[in-house]
Amino acid sequence: MDTRAQTADSVREERKRQVALGYRVFAALGWGDLGDGHISARDPERADCFWLLDVDTPFGEASPEKLVLVQPDGSVVGGSGRTNLPAYYIHYPILAARPDVASVAHTHTAFGTPFSASAARFEPITQEACIFHDDHAVFDDEEVQVQSVDCGERIARDLGRNRGVVLRNHGLLTVGATVKHAVAWFVMMERVAEAHLKARDPKPISHNAALYAKADLTTDEYTNSVFDFLVGHHLQAH
Ligand SMILES: [Zn+2]
Repeated sequence: MDTRAQTADSVREERKRQVALGYRVFAALGWGDLGDGHISARDPERADCFWLLDVDTPFGEASPEKLVLVQPDGSVVGGSGRTNLPAYYIHYPILAARPDVASVAHTHTAFGTPFSASAARFEPITQEACIFHDDHAVFDDEEVQVQSVDCGERIARDLGRNRGVVLRNHGLLTVGATVKHAVAWFVMMERVAEAHLKARDPKPISHNAALYAKADLTTDEYTNSVFDFLVGHHLQAH
């Protein structure tokens, strides 16, 4: 095996490990108990293919061995198991549209989904909200079940260059250059939705102060630490 293949193998194994941890963190947070949602990771060699959890495996039982590789036509070409079409319809077009992105995270949450019903944007009303200041979109569309690649392409178009999108009447979605980023930002985006639903007459942070906080809260070091804290806090052994 040449060095390049070895490098791809090690990147693939690390991405798969992080995806499995991400699913288990989601489970620990009480998410995905209906099998709703997915975390994907682009394959480092086959860049048009992505890994996610076998659809029949509970989030809390996720492991690298339980992931399947999905190719551009939606069929499974690696791992053992199966996926479902909405996962393919959502993740494939976003990963195709965003070569800078290696991971997409989405699930239906206690605050993100209710918040999404208003098709509203976030205001910079908390620290975490600053992460999404001028950096999220709203997908104001009625195809809530995402039943086509075309719908996923519309989500990707509205997501644009942002790090997250509120899917109207559906829930939240984040993207990242790494799995750690996509998962950490998803957890924080859910907290932002919670703050919006609970805060009474909030006073937003100013634009410049929000941008200052955003720069501080979106560094690799900080974002990776959020993921590592989530794993350390919620998972006993990993
Ligand atoms: Zn969904």
